[in-house]
Amino acid sequence: MKEIILLKEGEIAIKGLNKRSFEDSMIRNIRRRLKHLGKFSYERSQSTVAIRPLEEDIDLDAVEECVSKIFGIAAYCRALVVKKDFEEICEKTMPYISESAENAKTFKVNAKRADKKFPLKSPEICAELGGRILEAFPHLTVDVNDPDLIVTVEVRQDHAYVHAGNKKGAGGIPVGTSGQAMLMLSGGIDSPVAAYMMAKRGVKLSAIHYVSPPYTSDRARQKVERLCEKLTPWCGDIAFYCVPFTEIQEKLRDNCPEELFTIIMRRLMIEIAQRIAEKNEIPALVTGESIGQVASQTMGALVCTDAACRMPVFRPVIGMDKTEIIEIARRIDTFDISVEPYEDCCTVFTPKHPKTRPVLADVEAAQNGYDFEPLIAKAVEDTELKVIRYENAF
Ligand code: ATP
Ligand code: MG
Repeated sequence: MKEIILLKEGEIAIKGLNKRSFEDSMIRNIRRRLKHLGKFSYERSQSTVAIRPLEEDIDLDAVEECVSKIFGIAAYCRALVVKKDFEEICEKTMPYISESAENAKTFKVNAKRADKKFPLKSPEICAELGGRILEAFPHLTVDVNDPDLIVTVEVRQDHAYVHAGNKKGAGGIPVGTSGQAMLMLSGGIDSPVAAYMMAKRGVKLSAIHYVSPPYTSDRARQKVERLCEKLTPWCGDIAFYCVPFTEIQEKLRDNCPEELFTIIMRRLMIEIAQRIAEKNEIPALVTGESIGQVASQTMGALVCTDAACRMPVFRPVIGMDKTEIIEIARRIDTFDISVEPYEDCCTVFTPKHPKTRPVLADVEAAQNGYDFEPLIAKAVEDTELKVIRYENAF
C-alpha cells in the first residue's frame, strides 16, 4: 500500500500574487521539520501540497504529528495512491476506508478530476463509487449536506488519490512570512502561549530570558530552555538569549522606592531586550502580559512600561482570561513545564505593596535617581546566546 500526505493550504491560498512565496516558505519549513523522519518529495498543485515518502518504512504517523504543528496548513490527510483505473480505485478504496466507515453513519463521495481524459466524469465517479460503498457497508446512508464521512477521490495526471476525511491543521500563515520579533520568555504559563500566537501569524521568534543567580537557580534557566524546545515544533529553531540580571536587580532594590521596584525593573528589562533586538535587526518585542492579571499589568503599569519602549511591543494574550491561556498552554504541551515550581527573576525582591497606579513622572524620576546605564551595557555585553534546535525536541 502506497500512501502520501496531502496538505491543504489555508490563508495562503488567497494571497494572490504573493501566494508562491508564502508556499515556498511553508515548504521550506516542512522540509526542515520532516528531515529527521526520512526523505520526501513535494508536489504542489491547486493549493494542495502532496508529500511523498521516498523511502520504505517511513513513519507516517510521525509525519502527520509534525505536519499538524506547521503553520499555513488548514487541513491535512493521508491518502492512498492508486492506479488510474476505476475498478482498481473501487477495489482499493473499500479496505482503506473500512475503519472510518465502521465509525460513521452517513457519508458522501467527493470526486475531483484534474485529468479530463479519465473516462468517468466526477458525478459518475461519485454515483458509482457511492453505490459500491453502500454495498460494502450496508449500515451507511448517504448524506450530501452533513455527512460523518467524506470519501474523496482525486484523479491526477499520474495517479488517483483516495482519502477519507481531513484533519484540522494548525492554521495561520508560515513562520518567517511576517518578519521577526523578540519574545520576552519567562518560565510562566503566558509567554509560551504568546509565542505560539505570534508564530501562528507567521512571526519568526527569538527569545530573551533574564536570570538572577543565586536568587534564581540553574534549574530555572533549564526549565525555560525546555519550554523553548517544546515551542520549536510550532516556531522552528529559537535563538535564546540569556541575560544576567542580578546586579541590576540588587542596585534597583538599594536605590529606588520599594513600591516602584517592579515597574522600573520591567522598564529595564524592556531596555535590554530592545538593545539586543536592535543589534540583531529584530524590529519588535512580544510579551505574555494580560491586562489586569497582576499589579505590573494594570493599565497604569503598562503605560509606564510602554513609555520605555522605542519599538512596538506585541501582547497577543492581552485580552485573554487565565483559563483561556491555560487551555492553549495545555494544547501546545507547555503547561506541565510552566507549572514546575522554580523562581523567576520577576519574583525576586517583589514589593509587598506594588503601586497599581504608578505615575509616569514619578517612575522616571525614581529611575533617573540612579545611573543604570553602565549596568545595562554590561548585561547586554554578558548576554549568552544558545540556539535551541528543533531536532532536540525529540
Ligand atoms: P508568565 O506566566 O509568562 O510568566 P506572568 O503572568 O507571570 O507571565 P509577569 O511575571 O509579570 O507575568 O511577566 C509578564 C511578562 O514579562 C511575561 O509574560 C514575559 O513576557 C515577561 N517576563 C517575565 N519574567 C521574565 C523573565 N525572567 N525573562 C524574560 N521575560 C520575562
Ligand atoms: Mg512569570
